Amino acid sequence: MALRFRILGSGSSGNAALLQSDAARVLVDAGFSARRLDALLAEDGLSLAQIDAIFLTHEHGDHAAALTGLARHPHIRVYANRATAEVAQRSLKHRLNWHYFETGAAFSFRDLEVSSFRVPHDAQDPVGFIISHGAGDLVSPRRTLAWLTDLGHAPANVHEHIREADVLVVEANYCPRLLEADTKRPWSVKQRINGRHGHLSNEAVRELLTTVTNPRWRHVFCAHLSRDCNTTSAVETAIAPALRALGCALSIVAPGTGSTALEF
Ligand SMILES: [Zn+2]
Ligand SMILES: [Zn+2]
Repeated sequence: MALRFRILGSGSSGNAALLQSDAARVLVDAGFSARRLDALLAEDGLSLAQIDAIFLTHEHGDHAAALTGLARHPHIRVYANRATAEVAQRSLKHRLNWHYFETGAAFSFRDLEVSSFRVPHDAQDPVGFIISHGAGDLVSPRRTLAWLTDLGHAPANVHEHIREADVLVVEANYCPRLLEADTKRPWSVKQRINGRHGHLSNEAVRELLTTVTNPRWRHVFCAHLSRDCNTTSAVETAIAPALRALGCALSIVAPGTGSTALEF
């Protein structure tokens, strides 16, 4: 099997994705209650009992909410850097099956190779992931997924990391016009969102996607859309022309929903 990937849910209220290979079933982030994750996984004929590991980007609740419900699933390995694990563990009653990685260093889990890279976001030690599978020969072509959510801006090192991915998941969190017009959020929260350690706007994503040189992407998922301060059509307007020029498919994950499955 190649890699099978599906975003289970995405947006300010929770983020999680399922990645399956021959030998591994993992979640990238787990930002829903364990009960809700079980319901989302049921659409794939699965439940948490069949998940082997969680790769955790950072400790914010919309990425880590399931951890409180993992007492019943001690078999699930939770991969995180030490700073993230320590702060996440503090609010839990039970000790999780933590496996630490060093930010920037590669590790493997079964038939997946994983590396992490630092992103600028207001959490302990937030990361993006590059997850690869396959030897790179005819029998087993190499396939790579890049996961890039929750960052206030995209430094040059981020460009390098995501360039070689076949599939890129990137956050398109807010439309600056809708954020400005929003009446629910106080000024301080708006400052946090559009700050250097907040989230990417649609325009920032377009700039990122058009600045990376010779990207290998075949499919880009725009995710983590704000329910109040973004729309799929605003993302489409900002980003679709740039990806069309690259001959790359685009899926925009509506806030509060998941995506269809992709095999690659
Ligand atoms: Zn966050
Ligand atoms: Zn988030």
